Amino acid sequence: MAPSRTAAQLPEATICRSARRPGQPPATTTSMTATIATTCEDMRPASSAPAKIVVTAFSTSVYRLQIIVDLAEQFGRKVAFVGRGMQHTSQIATDLGYLRIPPRLLIKDMDVRDYPGEDIVCLCTGSQGEPLAALPRIAIDDHRHVKLAREDVVVFSSRVIPGNEKSIGRVMNHVARRGATIVADGQKHVHVSGHGSEEELKLMLSLIRPRYFVPIHGEYRQLARHARVAARVSPTTRVVLAENGDLIRFDEDGVTFASHLDGSRHRLTPERAVEIQELLDATVTMALDECTPYPIERSVLAESMRRSMRWAERSKAAFRERAGYGLFGIVQGGVDPELRLESAARLVDLGFEGYAIGGLAVGEGQRLMFEIVGLTAPALPEDRPRYLMGVGKPADLIGAVGRGIDLFDCVLPTRSGRTAQAWTAGGPLNLRNQRHADDPSPLEPGCPCAACRDHSRAYLHHLTRAGEILGAMLLTWHNLHYYQRLMAEARAAIEAGRFADVFRRAAAEPAGSDAEADGCAPRMRPA
Ligand SMILES: [Zn+2]
Repeated sequence: MAPSRTAAQLPEATICRSARRPGQPPATTTSMTATIATTCEDMRPASSAPAKIVVTAFSTSVYRLQIIVDLAEQFGRKVAFVGRGMQHTSQIATDLGYLRIPPRLLIKDMDVRDYPGEDIVCLCTGSQGEPLAALPRIAIDDHRHVKLAREDVVVFSSRVIPGNEKSIGRVMNHVARRGATIVADGQKHVHVSGHGSEEELKLMLSLIRPRYFVPIHGEYRQLARHARVAARVSPTTRVVLAENGDLIRFDEDGVTFASHLDGSRHRLTPERAVEIQELLDATVTMALDECTPYPIERSVLAESMRRSMRWAERSKAAFRERAGYGLFGIVQGGVDPELRLESAARLVDLGFEGYAIGGLAVGEGQRLMFEIVGLTAPALPEDRPRYLMGVGKPADLIGAVGRGIDLFDCVLPTRSGRTAQAWTAGGPLNLRNQRHADDPSPLEPGCPCAACRDHSRAYLHHLTRAGEILGAMLLTWHNLHYYQRLMAEARAAIEAGRFADVFRRAAAEPAGSDAEADGCAPRMRPA
């Protein structure tokens, strides 16, 4: 296959089964000691991203614990025993002299997060998938002290007790969902006679570089491993990880998706999307579009934007004009200035009651976002509402208003309220912080909302610490109030022709904010 083939000639999607686990010898013939040693060796600090090794074993297998402790020492890693059974048994075994732990090798499970991953081996209970043991809880991201990162490796060092296959498999699937790599003895190869092996798969991917790649056959942990191979070999390919029951369809006409609530299938076309919004009596109807991720290959981005523009045209044709109701077009084009301007021009050509900028705040960062907003907003009619979708922090809002945006939507004020965070003119506050425990002052002095008027910071601190739903309600109330006030101040400043004077970036950390609540957000407040 000649490398000069154009994108148009390449297959739209490749659906493929089978991927052999890395490493030549099948794990069944290597001892677990060698497997763990190899894992440590592969993950020597300098060689790869910082990653911790999580090993699950029977806590009563003191001989196995000793091997892992010795290997950790050899590779310069600290050891944390995680899970009550593991902590008790290792303590007894150490007291009786059966387990030898070199001085300063052991750390507490609660200190794991303070060390770089590359310095850590966690020894956990839960090798048989027991739901309340350490590893199964770590796997579903429900452990107080130990979290899995994408680079981490989880070693299942114990043999499977017959009957426990399913629960262990479930734990492995959850580990794969966290993005961590699984090493297990007797792990089934996805490779089946007659299907592609890992090497064949790599060759095929590097030759055809498909736009989409969908691994099939196997459980989530096997699909995840398969997907990782594909992502490594062909970085421009969009790898779609779908589980049983998920429906994927790529076509020009619209999108088909499965509900995350009940798995039911739904078909959305530009016409159907307009119809549903009319049935909901929405005063502002949004055209159907595709929100592209960041980063993304330019040819894929361009194609997606142009499809969204064809959908905008169909949405416009489907929309029933009536007084008091309007249709908004959505500018796409990622962070590519040329594509953004092309998209804006196409929408202005079609003519809408308002214009939205979509596909931003998807990980590109504030600087790039402002750059694209600053470029796109002036290309849209000044006498129509200009709406930045899914944004943002107070500083994002003010920065976008300064660049011509009139309208926003964002979950932040309510979501922050549910996670004990309050937005104030003095910066964000984390109400869980101990320093509010005895503070009788209001959340934000001068704020007329019910949370600030009737309650102290100490009471709000108590509510959030106690997990009382009233805490989330009051903070949400205040946050919405704060956002409304901020926008009202912006409107008043614009009317007075003083927007640039009124809103300036506070150079220093404002007094009274909790830096850890949101370390990166620049503060905005009226002068
Ligand atoms: Zn308030």
